[in-house]
Amino acid sequence: MKALMSLIKEAFFPMTCAACGEVTKDGEPLCDYCREMLKPINPIKRCILCGCEKPDCECKYRVFRFDGLIAPFENKDTAKLGVYSFKFGKRMSNADYFAEQMAFCVKNEYRDIGFDAVTFVPMHRSRFLKRGFNQSRVLAEKIAVVLGLPIADTLVCLKNGKRQHDLFGKERLGNVKGRYKAKAGVKGKMLLLVDDIKTTGATLDECAKQLYLSGADGVYCVTALISVRDKNNAGKKQ
Ligand SMILES: [Zn+2]
Ligand SMILES: [Zn+2]
Repeated sequence: MKALMSLIKEAFFPMTCAACGEVTKDGEPLCDYCREMLKPINPIKRCILCGCEKPDCECKYRVFRFDGLIAPFENKDTAKLGVYSFKFGKRMSNADYFAEQMAFCVKNEYRDIGFDAVTFVPMHRSRFLKRGFNQSRVLAEKIAVVLGLPIADTLVCLKNGKRQHDLFGKERLGNVKGRYKAKAGVKGKMLLLVDDIKTTGATLDECAKQLYLSGADGVYCVTALISVRDKNNAGKKQ
Protein backbone atom coordinates (compact mmCIF):
# COMPACT_ATOMS: atom_id res chain seq x y z
CA MET A 1 0.00 0.00 0.00
CA LYS A 2 2.81 2.35 0.95
CA ALA A 3 4.66 1.58 -2.28
CA LEU A 4 1.51 2.22 -4.29
CA MET A 5 1.01 5.55 -2.56
CA SER A 6 4.53 6.64 -3.34
CA LEU A 7 4.09 5.60 -6.99
CA ILE A 8 0.95 7.70 -7.22
CA LYS A 9 2.68 10.58 -5.48
CA GLU A 10 5.61 10.39 -7.88
CA ALA A 11 3.29 10.33 -10.91
CA PHE A 12 1.40 13.44 -9.84
CA PHE A 13 4.12 15.32 -7.94
CA PRO A 14 7.40 14.20 -9.50
CA MET A 15 10.55 15.10 -7.58
CA THR A 16 12.40 17.93 -9.28
CA CYS A 17 16.10 18.68 -9.07
CA ALA A 18 16.97 21.09 -6.23
CA ALA A 19 19.34 22.98 -8.53
CA CYS A 20 17.98 23.06 -12.08
CA GLY A 21 14.34 22.06 -11.61
CA GLU A 22 14.37 19.08 -14.02
CA VAL A 23 12.31 16.06 -13.02
CA THR A 24 14.63 13.53 -11.39
CA LYS A 25 14.42 9.76 -11.40
CA ASP A 26 13.50 7.62 -8.40
CA GLY A 27 12.62 10.61 -6.25
CA GLU A 28 16.24 11.75 -6.05
CA PRO A 29 16.79 15.35 -4.84
CA LEU A 30 19.23 16.12 -7.69
CA CYS A 31 19.44 15.19 -11.38
CA ASP A 32 22.53 13.28 -12.54
CA TYR A 33 24.09 16.38 -14.08
CA CYS A 34 23.73 18.56 -10.98
CA ARG A 35 24.91 15.79 -8.69
CA GLU A 36 28.05 15.67 -10.78
CA MET A 37 28.44 19.48 -10.71
CA LEU A 38 27.61 20.05 -7.05
CA LYS A 39 30.78 19.71 -5.05
CA PRO A 40 30.48 20.14 -1.28
CA ILE A 41 33.30 22.06 0.42
CA ASN A 42 35.90 19.76 1.92
CA PRO A 43 35.74 20.49 5.68
CA ILE A 44 39.44 19.66 6.10
CA LYS A 45 40.30 22.64 3.90
CA ARG A 46 38.30 25.28 5.75
CA CYS A 47 38.90 27.49 8.75
CA ILE A 48 36.05 26.51 11.07
CA LEU A 49 35.97 30.01 12.58
CA CYS A 50 35.28 32.14 9.48
CA GLY A 51 34.26 29.31 7.16
CA CYS A 52 36.71 30.27 4.40
CA GLU A 53 39.28 28.02 2.84
CA LYS A 54 42.47 28.22 4.88
CA PRO A 55 44.50 30.33 2.38
CA ASP A 56 41.60 32.86 2.32
CA CYS A 57 40.97 32.79 6.09
CA GLU A 58 39.58 36.17 7.17
CA CYS A 59 40.44 35.73 10.85
CA LYS A 60 43.87 37.22 10.17
CA TYR A 61 42.43 40.71 9.85
CA ARG A 62 38.94 40.50 11.37
CA VAL A 63 37.52 39.43 14.69
CA PHE A 64 34.19 37.64 14.35
CA ARG A 65 31.95 37.45 17.37
CA PHE A 66 30.42 34.11 16.48
CA ASP A 67 32.26 30.97 17.53
CA GLY A 68 32.29 29.23 14.18
CA LEU A 69 30.88 29.18 10.67
CA ILE A 70 30.37 26.29 8.31
CA ALA A 71 28.52 25.79 5.01
CA PRO A 72 28.12 22.84 2.67
CA PHE A 73 28.64 24.79 -0.57
CA GLU A 74 30.37 27.76 -2.14
CA ASN A 75 28.17 30.57 -3.45
CA LYS A 76 28.56 29.73 -7.13
CA ASP A 77 27.38 27.56 -10.00
CA THR A 78 24.87 24.81 -9.28
CA ALA A 79 24.54 25.38 -5.53
CA LYS A 80 23.96 29.11 -6.05
CA LEU A 81 21.28 28.36 -8.62
CA GLY A 82 19.52 26.01 -6.20
CA VAL A 83 19.51 28.43 -3.25
CA TYR A 84 18.61 31.49 -5.35
CA SER A 85 15.65 29.77 -6.97
CA PHE A 86 14.40 28.90 -3.47
CA LYS A 87 15.01 32.41 -2.11
CA PHE A 88 13.92 34.54 -5.06
CA GLY A 89 11.90 32.07 -7.14
CA LYS A 90 9.98 30.51 -4.21
CA ARG A 91 10.98 26.95 -5.14
CA MET A 92 10.34 25.81 -1.58
CA SER A 93 11.12 22.15 -2.26
CA ASN A 94 14.79 23.11 -2.75
CA ALA A 95 15.01 24.00 0.94
CA ASP A 96 14.72 20.32 1.94
CA TYR A 97 17.88 19.39 0.11
CA PHE A 98 19.96 22.33 1.32
CA ALA A 99 18.75 22.04 4.92
CA GLU A 100 19.71 18.37 4.89
CA GLN A 101 23.21 19.19 3.65
CA MET A 102 23.56 21.93 6.30
CA ALA A 103 22.44 19.53 9.05
CA PHE A 104 24.99 17.03 7.78
CA CYS A 105 27.76 19.65 8.17
CA VAL A 106 26.57 20.41 11.71
CA LYS A 107 26.56 16.74 12.70
CA ASN A 108 30.03 16.31 11.28
CA GLU A 109 31.88 19.51 12.19
CA TYR A 110 30.03 20.70 15.30
CA ARG A 111 29.66 17.19 16.70
CA ASP A 112 31.22 18.11 20.06
CA ILE A 113 28.89 21.03 20.70
CA GLY A 114 25.72 20.46 22.70
CA PHE A 115 23.22 22.85 21.14
CA ASP A 116 20.14 23.92 23.06
CA ALA A 117 18.26 25.26 20.05
CA VAL A 118 18.37 26.24 16.39
CA THR A 119 17.79 29.92 15.64
CA PHE A 120 17.84 32.07 12.50
CA VAL A 121 18.60 35.52 11.11
CA PRO A 122 15.31 37.44 11.23
CA MET A 123 13.78 39.38 8.37
CA HIS A 124 12.23 42.81 8.66
CA ARG A 125 8.43 42.76 8.66
CA SER A 126 8.10 44.79 5.48
CA ARG A 127 10.39 42.46 3.54
CA PHE A 128 8.62 39.44 5.01
CA LEU A 129 5.29 40.77 3.76
CA LYS A 130 6.79 41.20 0.31
CA ARG A 131 8.46 37.78 0.07
CA GLY A 132 5.99 35.80 2.15
CA PHE A 133 8.63 33.78 3.96
CA ASN A 134 11.97 34.13 5.70
CA GLN A 135 14.32 31.75 3.88
CA SER A 136 16.62 31.50 6.92
CA ARG A 137 13.73 30.47 9.14
CA VAL A 138 12.53 27.88 6.61
CA LEU A 139 16.02 26.33 6.53
CA ALA A 140 16.36 26.54 10.35
CA GLU A 141 13.06 24.75 10.93
CA LYS A 142 14.04 21.90 8.65
CA ILE A 143 17.52 21.64 10.21
CA ALA A 144 15.96 21.56 13.70
CA VAL A 145 13.82 18.57 12.65
CA VAL A 146 16.82 16.68 11.26
CA LEU A 147 18.90 17.41 14.38
CA GLY A 148 16.02 16.78 16.80
CA LEU A 149 16.42 20.23 18.39
CA PRO A 150 13.85 22.90 19.23
CA ILE A 151 13.61 26.01 17.08
CA ALA A 152 13.98 29.32 18.91
CA ASP A 153 12.88 32.71 17.56
CA THR A 154 15.56 34.77 19.32
CA LEU A 155 16.15 37.91 17.24
CA VAL A 156 14.18 40.83 15.84
CA CYS A 157 15.08 42.93 12.83
CA LEU A 158 14.55 46.55 13.85
CA LYS A 159 15.24 48.35 10.60
CA ASN A 160 15.09 47.32 7.01
CA GLY A 161 18.14 49.12 5.60
CA LYS A 162 19.48 48.39 2.18
CA ARG A 163 19.71 44.82 1.00
CA GLN A 164 23.12 43.45 2.01
CA HIS A 165 23.16 41.90 -1.42
CA ASP A 166 23.50 45.33 -3.10
CA LEU A 167 26.35 46.65 -0.96
CA PHE A 168 30.13 46.34 -0.88
CA GLY A 169 32.18 45.09 2.08
CA LYS A 170 32.57 48.19 4.27
CA GLU A 171 29.03 49.43 3.53
CA ARG A 172 27.70 46.08 4.70
CA LEU A 173 29.27 46.46 8.13
CA GLY A 174 27.66 49.89 8.60
CA ASN A 175 24.34 48.70 7.20
CA VAL A 176 23.82 46.04 9.89
CA LYS A 177 24.76 48.20 12.88
CA GLY A 178 21.79 48.52 15.23
CA ARG A 179 19.66 46.43 12.89
CA TYR A 180 19.07 43.44 15.17
CA LYS A 181 18.13 42.91 18.78
CA ALA A 182 17.96 39.70 20.80
CA LYS A 183 14.77 38.75 22.62
CA ALA A 184 14.65 37.52 26.20
CA GLY A 185 15.29 33.85 26.86
CA VAL A 186 18.70 33.29 25.29
CA LYS A 187 20.62 33.49 28.56
CA GLY A 188 22.93 30.52 29.04
CA LYS A 189 21.89 28.96 25.70
CA MET A 190 24.16 27.31 23.17
CA LEU A 191 22.73 28.34 19.80
CA LEU A 192 23.02 27.21 16.19
CA LEU A 193 22.43 30.33 14.08
CA VAL A 194 21.14 29.72 10.53
CA ASP A 195 21.30 32.00 7.49
CA ASP A 196 21.11 31.29 3.76
CA ILE A 197 24.35 32.89 2.52
CA LYS A 198 27.50 34.18 4.17
CA THR A 199 29.07 36.96 2.14
CA THR A 200 31.12 39.24 4.41
CA GLY A 201 29.73 37.70 7.60
CA ALA A 202 28.57 41.15 8.82
CA THR A 203 24.96 40.06 9.41
CA LEU A 204 25.89 36.91 11.32
CA ASP A 205 28.49 38.83 13.31
CA GLU A 206 25.95 41.47 14.37
CA CYS A 207 23.37 38.82 15.30
CA ALA A 208 25.97 36.92 17.34
CA LYS A 209 26.94 40.14 19.11
CA GLN A 210 23.33 40.79 20.12
CA LEU A 211 22.82 37.20 21.30
CA TYR A 212 25.97 37.45 23.43
CA LEU A 213 24.86 40.78 24.88
CA SER A 214 21.68 39.00 25.99
CA GLY A 215 23.68 36.27 27.69
CA ALA A 216 23.94 33.47 25.11
CA ASP A 217 26.58 30.89 25.98
CA GLY A 218 27.71 30.24 22.42
CA VAL A 219 26.73 31.09 18.84
CA TYR A 220 27.79 28.80 16.01
CA CYS A 221 26.66 29.56 12.45
CA VAL A 222 25.68 27.41 9.51
CA THR A 223 24.75 28.78 6.08
CA ALA A 224 23.79 27.02 2.85
CA LEU A 225 26.35 28.97 0.81
CA ILE A 226 29.55 30.82 1.52
CA SER A 227 30.96 33.43 -0.85
CA VAL A 228 34.56 32.89 -1.76
CA ARG A 229 37.10 35.32 -3.06
CA ASP A 230 37.19 35.13 -6.82
CA LYS A 231 40.84 34.43 -7.50
CA ASN A 232 40.58 36.00 -10.96
CA ASN A 233 38.78 39.12 -9.77
CA ALA A 234 40.20 39.66 -6.30
CA GLY A 235 38.47 42.51 -4.49
CA LYS A 236 35.42 42.54 -6.73
CA LYS A 237 32.00 41.88 -5.24
CA GLN A 238 30.57 38.47 -6.02
ZN1 LIG B 1 19.64 19.38 -12.00
ZN1 LIG C 1 39.35 31.96 9.51
